Amino acid sequence: MSTVPPERLGGTLLELQDLDSRIFSLLREIDGLPEEHRLAELERELKESREARAARKSELEDLEHRQHKLDGELDLLNGKIKEEEGKLFSGTIMNPKELGAIQAEIISLRKKSDDMETEDLEMMERIDAGKRALEESEEHARLVEEQERSAREAYNRELAEKESCVEDLERKRDGLKETVDPDLIEAYEKLLSEKGGLAVVRIDQGRNCGGCHVQFSRTQIDRFLHEEGIFRCEFCRRILVK
Ligand SMILES: [Zn+2]
Repeated sequence: MSTVPPERLGGTLLELQDLDSRIFSLLREIDGLPEEHRLAELERELKESREARAARKSELEDLEHRQHKLDGELDLLNGKIKEEEGKLFSGTIMNPKELGAIQAEIISLRKKSDDMETEDLEMMERIDAGKRALEESEEHARLVEEQERSAREAYNRELAEKESCVEDLERKRDGLKETVDPDLIEAYEKLLSEKGGLAVVRIDQGRNCGGCHVQFSRTQIDRFLHEEGIFRCEFCRRILVK
């Protein structure tokens, strides 16, 4: 049962359609919020920057591990040199050939030790560079985290605002629906989906359908003039309002 008087039914249906189309466009806006794209972009960037940070960290740990190993080897080598020098100067070895061999061994060990010292220095430089690279990537990751956080807040704010608008409009729409005959509401909703959101149209200049623009017959035009309420276009089936 319709609780709206016939002369106000058309206006009510137009109002209903306006609410539905505002809800529809808000829902579409929610689906494609620019804040959501920005957030997705930053989430990707954040993932990449965290991966880069982890890679720098693992590179640095690898270098430090290698340097630690090198230092150990160098200590062993220097110990060996001391040992050989000890033998050389102990006075217990008198054989010149044997002494010559020890001297040659010491020279060769020192050469090796020098090379390793050089390698050690290079490693230290690489470690310093690795530390700087890690700091930079940590700084970058922090920056992106900050941007991502504020983009997420902006998105949530925008979303909440629009969702609350949708809820308000839906409440109004549902209230309005209650005042109209359910069969008519059913017909309206079916038309709304079939006719791309345009179920209710005005009668143009008293004689044309505002939806399909067909011109009505004389008899129809007379009915529009003398009857209250709503009509249906016999061509496009839309609900006609005076
Ligand atoms: Zn029509």
